Amino acid sequence: MIQLKGLSKAFQTKTQTVTAVDNVSLSIDEGEIFGIIGYSGAGKSTLVRLLNKLETATSGEVTIEGESITSLKGQSLRSARQEIGMVFQHFNLLWSRTVAENIAFPLEIAKQSKQERNKRVQELVNLVGLEGREDSYPSQLSGGQKQRVGIARALANNPKVLLCDEATSALDPKTTDSILALLTDINKKLGLTIVLITHEMHVIRKICHRVAVMENGRVVEEGPVLQVFRKP
Ligand code: ADP
Ligand code: ADP
Repeated sequence: MIQLKGLSKAFQTKTQTVTAVDNVSLSIDEGEIFGIIGYSGAGKSTLVRLLNKLETATSGEVTIEGESITSLKGQSLRSARQEIGMVFQHFNLLWSRTVAENIAFPLEIAKQSKQERNKRVQELVNLVGLEGREDSYPSQLSGGQKQRVGIARALANNPKVLLCDEATSALDPKTTDSILALLTDINKKLGLTIVLITHEMHVIRKICHRVAVMENGRVVEEGPVLQVFRKP
């Protein structure tokens, strides 16, 4: 589904070269929940930015369903980006728009008609359990509800992959559990591939099938969660 082959990203600063991602090769299967864990500075954010092409790799390649996204530009890059739904730590909602309008936003950009948008928004509201909150503003929602909006918006254009970047790091433990349960539910219901980036081991333990551990830009361990986090 997603293949990273010898992926590297180096940043040149005034005094040195920082290799944020260092020769990473990974294979993420269709329909799995794949976790990427590492301490601050391990290279996780840079990896995310390589996956959604906000950053260009120094070397190596990312392919999604066999198609290389590494050298895409213009319209083909924009359509490749639509294949990846992004969920953020701080939700990145539009604060002057309602729940329904936030979820409809990517559909507007994709030039869907009002009628199509309304139908899709209702499906997504039901999927994430926000019935009755369609006309609320983000400031009127709890953190967990805001993240449900973030997830619905990320799913609006039917992406092939949901990329969650520290999606529960701003939430309390109980809310974290409810968002993880929602992600598991979406994974099962839609068979959607989910890539989950976090520094929290309990998040990985709770919902991931496989995990890669990053340290200093490298993947130092990879495999089924039960195997990698085996209790001694
Ligand atoms: P994480 O998300 O795991 O905290 P990052 O990907 O943010 O890790 O950072 C990995 C390393 O790359 C760090 O040493 C960081 O300082 C460095 N880095 C990230 N972005 C840049 C940049 N734009 N310029 C220079 N160094 C960077
Ligand atoms: P929370 O109640 O979840 O803490 P905040 O109001 O603190 O939400 O804002 C969270 C993030 O949203 C911050 O990064 C902030 O900069 C951004 N933000 C706040 N207001 C707006 C706005 N009107 N438009 C766009 N972004 C905003």
